[in-house]
Amino acid sequence: MVKADVADFICPGCQARYKLVRAKSAARSRDLPLHCKVCKQPLAASDGEDILKYFLIRRPKATRLQARPL
Ligand SMILES: [Zn+2]
Repeated sequence: MVKADVADFICPGCQARYKLVRAKSAARSRDLPLHCKVCKQPLAASDGEDILKYFLIRRPKATRLQARPL
């Protein structure tokens, strides 16, 4: 039975928003290094036996301005 969990993930480097999908690694998967598509921050590619996938859903508005969440 395939089980997948989805969570929100915000890049600590640039505040870009990702959907973080955690899935069981079916076959043997290579641990490819993942990086933020926006700021190249290294992201964890796996967690234990689970593999992590990131789907960019929102880029930070302006990288030169400091993000100030209300
Ligand atoms: Zn980033």
